[in-house]
Amino acid sequence: MVLGHYGFGLGAKKFAPRLSLGTLFLAVQWADLLWPVLLLLNVEHVELRPGNPKFPLEFTDYPVTHSLLMGIVWGAVFGLVYWLFKKDVKSALVLGICVLSHWVLDLVVHRPDLPLFPGDSPKVGLGLWNWPLLTALVEGTLFVIGLLLYLRVSKPRNTTGKWSFWLLMTLLVVNHVAGLFSPMPPSAHAIGWAAQYQWIFVIMGYWVDRNRITVTVQ
Ligand SMILES: [Zn+2]
Repeated sequence: MVLGHYGFGLGAKKFAPRLSLGTLFLAVQWADLLWPVLLLLNVEHVELRPGNPKFPLEFTDYPVTHSLLMGIVWGAVFGLVYWLFKKDVKSALVLGICVLSHWVLDLVVHRPDLPLFPGDSPKVGLGLWNWPLLTALVEGTLFVIGLLLYLRVSKPRNTTGKWSFWLLMTLLVVNHVAGLFSPMPPSAHAIGWAAQYQWIFVIMGYWVDRNRITVTVQ
């Protein structure tokens, strides 16, 4: 899942308007931002299946980034660190939930390859990726709902705040569609390097948010 995660981050702004969109994107995508790093460090592993267009990647081993238990742990770490700096319980909770949401949303689309905990764990996944059109509908809906929720609490502070937001939204959609049609990477190592570009969306999230203001909802 790609767009759905970003949709969740956008929508979360409504419940914790003090959180920057950059921080929210960092939280919802933490698992997928850390995963390529751990691939490069040979801590987590993925196998390539060029003959299987629906599931070209077999996630054989990714307990640190994609187990339920670690999702909870990472969520707690994010929430705690935020609380220590800002002393804002509600925003800290929302941030923690955002981190955990990644696993829950991945659960919907992945095949049963998501472990519950590191080690010898059962693996779960509802496999929505078996139905690409339905997946697109679910992800698109999540994204649009999140975008609309975000717009209810955030208004542009200046012209940059307006166009940068729509630029980011466009790039997210393009990124999602390009991901569907992009050629198979040659190796897990190549995926590890290529996937680093996702940080741009976190950085852009901070940039967009700096040029927008939070409004109180009636
Ligand atoms: Zn993921």
